[in-house]
Amino acid sequence: MSSSSTESPSRGPGLLAKLPSVDRVLAKPPLRTLSAQYGLGQVTATLRAVLDGLRAQVQAGALTAEQLDTHASTETLAGTVAHRLEAKFAPRLRAVFNLSGTVLHTNLGRALLPDDAVQAVVRTLTAPANLEFDLATGGRGDRDDLVDELLRELTGAEAATVINNNAAAVLLTLNALAARKEVIVSRGELVEIGGAFRIPDIMKRAGATLVEVGTTNRTHAKDYAEAITPRTALLMKVHTSNYAVTGFTKSVSESEVAHIAHAASAAHPQGVPLVVDLGSGTLVDLSRWGLPHEPTVHETIAAGADLVTFSGDKLLGGPQAGLIVGRKDLIAKIKKNPLKRALRVGKLTLAALEPVLRLYLTPERLAERLTTLRLFTRPQAQMRAQAETLMPLLQAALGAAYTVDTAPMFSQIGSGALPSDTLPSHGLRIQPAQAKGAGRALAHLESALRELPRPVIGRVADHALWLDLRCLETQDEADFIAQLAHLQTPPKA
Ligand SMILES: *Cc1c(COP(=O)(O)O)cnc(C)c1O
Repeated sequence: MSSSSTESPSRGPGLLAKLPSVDRVLAKPPLRTLSAQYGLGQVTATLRAVLDGLRAQVQAGALTAEQLDTHASTETLAGTVAHRLEAKFAPRLRAVFNLSGTVLHTNLGRALLPDDAVQAVVRTLTAPANLEFDLATGGRGDRDDLVDELLRELTGAEAATVINNNAAAVLLTLNALAARKEVIVSRGELVEIGGAFRIPDIMKRAGATLVEVGTTNRTHAKDYAEAITPRTALLMKVHTSNYAVTGFTKSVSESEVAHIAHAASAAHPQGVPLVVDLGSGTLVDLSRWGLPHEPTVHETIAAGADLVTFSGDKLLGGPQAGLIVGRKDLIAKIKKNPLKRALRVGKLTLAALEPVLRLYLTPERLAERLTTLRLFTRPQAQMRAQAETLMPLLQAALGAAYTVDTAPMFSQIGSGALPSDTLPSHGLRIQPAQAKGAGRALAHLESALRELPRPVIGRVADHALWLDLRCLETQDEADFIAQLAHLQTPPKA
């Protein structure tokens, strides 16, 4: 409804005439500058949305004539449009500081790649590469061949294939070898990994029938042996990566299950292989660096596993990938399955994986070259010295509303690897100065840290925010300090 007054109204739909047209505003110099930067289409659409918003406010009678004059001025419109486009064009996937104390943090992208791998990715993305091209013959190649030899040497397996991630490796293996057949798994190993990966669900999707044996806490060799029938496709062991069963427990070792599988194979129509989902699957014995022992892929193959599946971006320290290594005939069968094509890796992955695997050929230098291992093995004294340097700077940036001190703490490896083992670390502990409203002050601090140009992710525990410095390497320290000036605390009332 329009105003019946002939006077210029001070509020309401009568003000609509004061709204400038899209075309008129677009022709103004500040908007033309924005169009040169973002393109006319983006600026037009954004400006139209801003003007639509103003029109709705006018119709609702929410703006006075003076307010509308300000909001609809060229300067204000250009500012609003610039602000919206800046936000729209800013990257969503951003670098953060992972000071959570979990080194392989799945939600923060797991393993960090060493520089060699990064350079290889850049090269491979900006120039054509022999991804599936045999340079010796000029004929068609197989992308798995790029890493096959390395994986065979590092694991002792006969053959290898690489796909998108380890969940896909399990799915593909089960579908290729066990569709419409039975797979025997201990009840103690029916794991759920974060992000909805559950062994029974994957089994169903792969078309295999799960045969559970044993109980949650105890499974015996005879449980496996007695469950084998002519419909059995394979025996499976799943590394219980993210939990530990303790107390009155019994599980059957890989070598014992392998023995049972192979003994049954002779009298079985297709044989009964043992497949081990190792989860994190390290390629080297971590106890060499004083870290807790985790079964290696090599040990698992040596124990008699016919196939082993593991992740590329957990302990291995490479890109997201799923690796399957083992018997040549079984790998050949897996590679013929159409799901292999659907789940294959791209050249980015292979470009990054190959140099990471090559680092393992020289284990003497692995702890300095492989980023994740370097982080796991950082001496606590180094983090303590860092904490002492940063403590007064952070205290100054936070002001009197918070108290910062240095504190020993424990990091976790993460991604389900070695859940009950922790690494002694050091860092900063931030507590609200006032007990009253401390919960709110902590929440505010966490969000202020997340709003920094490079967001800082810590961990709240025991009424404090903990910043574990294990993953703040020396080369990043200056960036961390520089952005403290942007910290928006204490909360504004
Ligand atoms: C992590 C894990 C998986 C899934 O691996 P992704 O690489 O994350 O897909 C599967 N099985 C086990 C035992 C794991 O620990």
